[in-house]
Amino acid sequence: MHELSVTESILEIVLRHAQESKARRVVNLHLVIGQLSSIVDDSVQFYWDIISKDTLAEGAILQFQRIPARMACQECGEEYSPQGDLACPACHSTRVRVVAGNEFRLDSIDVD
Ligand SMILES: [Zn+2]
Repeated sequence: MHELSVTESILEIVLRHAQESKARRVVNLHLVIGQLSSIVDDSVQFYWDIISKDTLAEGAILQFQRIPARMACQECGEEYSPQGDLACPACHSTRVRVVAGNEFRLDSIDVD
């Protein structure tokens, strides 16, 4: 599963960070997830609960911040937030690219 490997790499980063700051435990993780990302936050939470067991990060709360999608039209240069239909609202071209909304990253962590 895609989410498992993603969650494993997050745990690795979090534990390294927690050890460097001599934290006793990790309280919160702030994750940024784009609207167009294929990551399912419930799955991340599911794997997190399993793989963080018996680590400093066990029981940490995952906070997901959703980033809305931004697209840019390659024909007319219009930038827009797609509402269901991904085509350009100005010229209806489908030659568009994603400017934002694909990301999935760890933004910050709170430790105790
Ligand atoms: Zn356009």
